[in-house]
Amino acid sequence: HRMVIMRVRFPPSPTGALHIGNARTALYNWLLARGSGGQLVLRIEDTDRERSTPENVDLIFESLEWLGIDYDEGPIYQSQNAERHAGVVQQLLDEGKAYRTTAGPDVVKAYKEANDNRGFRGQEESEGAIRLRMPDEGVTVVNDIIRGETAFENVLLDDLVIARADGTPVYHLAVVVDDSDAQITHVVRGADHYSNTPKHLRIYDALGATPPTYAHLPLLHGTDGKKLSKRHGAASVSDLRNSGYLREAVVNYLALLGWGYDDKTEFFTVEELQRNFSLERVSKNPAVFDELKLRHMNGRY
Ligand code: GLU
Repeated sequence: HRMVIMRVRFPPSPTGALHIGNARTALYNWLLARGSGGQLVLRIEDTDRERSTPENVDLIFESLEWLGIDYDEGPIYQSQNAERHAGVVQQLLDEGKAYRTTAGPDVVKAYKEANDNRGFRGQEESEGAIRLRMPDEGVTVVNDIIRGETAFENVLLDDLVIARADGTPVYHLAVVVDDSDAQITHVVRGADHYSNTPKHLRIYDALGATPPTYAHLPLLHGTDGKKLSKRHGAASVSDLRNSGYLREAVVNYLALLGWGYDDKTEFFTVEELQRNFSLERVSKNPAVFDELKLRHMNGRY
């Protein structure tokens, strides 16, 4: 029943190896692109100059290649869009939708809560961070394929920092501009970004751009119920690869971390995954990464 052609993206930050959660995100996006006859755009979000390294970029490429995940456009390097981002920030300032202020978050929040649009919210300062004005009333509705519809009260959204005092745009601004420019139809990413989504929708609104459809994938936990991390052993695709797991077993196992075709089928070829994967069957509950189960699966290939 999948008739919508999906133009999706995978935008890793190269601040480390490709960890398991991000690999699952990449895989799901790839399955959606391939299964719908759409496209996958790879974007390297290298705007954190201190933590982004060429070695990590290479690790990401190697891991995607090993998993068999190819892409149709990119790699686009986000740092190369810096002028475009700065231009958008300037446009929002010119339109009065954003303002510059040296006031800290508590002061900004206090004004917002007092529903007071005077004071610094209305006047120009020549220094400080640039913030996007959030409406004082109404709601911002996030419609998520996996999590359903949620209305966020605008009055509770703080005026969002879109550029730092030194003028460099923050992630929220960059991701919206880049996704919008790339005409992404579906943003499929980890649930850790769910709370950012109302902010992103406000930016789309300020730009007069059509937002994508969202789907936030369930968090990954270790067998102890805690957020998956290095403590749980293998944490990245490189770790799994170095431990000798087979690519087919890893892909099959990752696909099942939060998705199921029915409640019984455990083994899928890549073609079957492409044909059968759908966001409608992704759970919103955390998925458990259990290396013993992966090992067991690996042994049956
Ligand atoms: N670079 C961000 C990350 O890796 C992208 C998040 C997103 O998909 O919007 O967390």
